[in-house]
Amino acid sequence: MYKKLDKNDIKFLKSICNEEDIIVGDEISEDFAHDELAGELKYPEAMVYVRNSEQVSKIMKYAFENNIPVTPRGQGTGLSGASVALYGGIMVNMCKMDKILELDEENLTLTVEPGVLLMTISQYVEEHDLFYPPDPGEKSAAIGGNINTNAGGMRAVKYGVTRDYVRGLEIVLPNGEILNVGGKVVKNSSGYDIKDLIVGSEGTLGIVTKAILRLLPLPKKAISLLIPFPDLESAIDTVPKIIKSKSIPTAIEFMEREAIVGAEEFLGKKFPDNSSNAYLLLKFDGNSTEEIEREYENVAKLCLDCGAYDVLISDTDERNESIWSARGAFLEAFKANSVIDECDVVVPRDKVAEFIRYTHDIQKEVGLRIKSFGHAGDGNLHVYPHKDDLPEELWRKRLEKAFDLMFAKARELNGEVSGEHGIGYAKSPYFCQSKNENYVDILKGIKIAFDPKNILNPGKIY
Ligand SMILES: Cc1cc2nc3c(=O)[nH]c(=O)nc-3n(C[C@H](O)[C@H](O)[C@H](O)COP(=O)(O)OP(=O)(O)OC[C@H]3O[C@@H](n4cnc5c(N)ncnc54)[C@H](O)[C@@H]3O)c2cc1C
Repeated sequence: MYKKLDKNDIKFLKSICNEEDIIVGDEISEDFAHDELAGELKYPEAMVYVRNSEQVSKIMKYAFENNIPVTPRGQGTGLSGASVALYGGIMVNMCKMDKILELDEENLTLTVEPGVLLMTISQYVEEHDLFYPPDPGEKSAAIGGNINTNAGGMRAVKYGVTRDYVRGLEIVLPNGEILNVGGKVVKNSSGYDIKDLIVGSEGTLGIVTKAILRLLPLPKKAISLLIPFPDLESAIDTVPKIIKSKSIPTAIEFMEREAIVGAEEFLGKKFPDNSSNAYLLLKFDGNSTEEIEREYENVAKLCLDCGAYDVLISDTDERNESIWSARGAFLEAFKANSVIDECDVVVPRDKVAEFIRYTHDIQKEVGLRIKSFGHAGDGNLHVYPHKDDLPEELWRKRLEKAFDLMFAKARELNGEVSGEHGIGYAKSPYFCQSKNENYVDILKGIKIAFDPKNILNPGKIY
């Protein structure tokens, strides 16, 4: 159905891009045949490192005229296979469009190319006493990828997610036209919001070539509380009470001992404490120690009343770094031990404990070890069935059963299939099951309006 690339197509690519930016056929590394999801390998026929919007526009125009599929690629750290070229064609690699274009301190915005890494943005704005709040665990992801997956992260409880910090976008449409949406305005009530539609669209509606991000003043102080509990249930049951207490932590994460020990081994560093079965990890930020103390004192007392063994306060950069770097390494540590797959559901915050209990209960039934950690404060859970030493076929069968049960449970609790990692191709069947026909039809209509030939990242979301 799609055109296969031939030497004329490669000649065209060479006519608009540097020759060393074009990689063809067998020269393409396996790294680009998958993302961080353990899935099947699918190679693009050519990969192009683009350098500017005009090149992207010319490639899209050509692909549109010739019916060639195009897959936008950031850093490939996605967890749902969204940046994998399922149908071959051209992979447009955005990593070399990596310039910070403008810091506007009067409007508190940062304009960047899509290949700028999240860690570069944080560091750059903090040097100017400013703050880009979205804080997904993988700091080497590119901002274009973050925007297209509406990446979340640990600070979502207080600050929201990537969508809340995208003010404007330049996008190249599937027919090659360049469109600017949003801008530096703070409010906008001018019709349908195409910008918000692009955020989280997983590269299926347009290619982001520039982004205007909203910044905040940098909070001057942050304190973390590590709170050991006798078991995961009592830890998670405390979270709705913290929310109800009306204090607003920056982050509320839950974790089990096994994840901590795995991260310690993985990083070769000690966590401040690993003697309890379960922990809540909270962060508070603000402009003075007194302000933060007022916030966390109530929460600390509440946790002790709910059965916490202790409240360990971490108020130095060093200790905070050691705790949060361990938290950031949980996924990699799980992966170092076993093949895993991931369920990234989000449920209402008062249903987190019920969902986690359910994942514990089904372990025996499905015959898999299931471990989890996650953003307890926003209801987004990262649940990992482990393959361990199961043969491939049995693992796939059991995994399917585990996923069927977990996604059905999330639906029952009025949750969503993905809180922050997106649908890609891996979660597409579950996404479609979770929506009624009208909903999927509207999505299809939107896709056709942007991409009538279905050439941009086909096979993703639904
Ligand atoms: C250890 C680890 C921890 C993680 N923690 C978190 C977390 O806490 N929160 C979270 O939300 N995610 C997390 N992730 C997932 C991942 O980092 C995010 O999904 C991230 O946003 C992907 O960015 P990327 O640059 O790697 O994009 P890719 O994986 O390359 O692409 C992701 C999607 O964006 C599209 N895309 C990329 N660039 C563009 C562009 N310029 N224009 C149009 N489409 C584009 C791709 O086609 C694809 O659909 C984690 C991943 C790992 C490995």
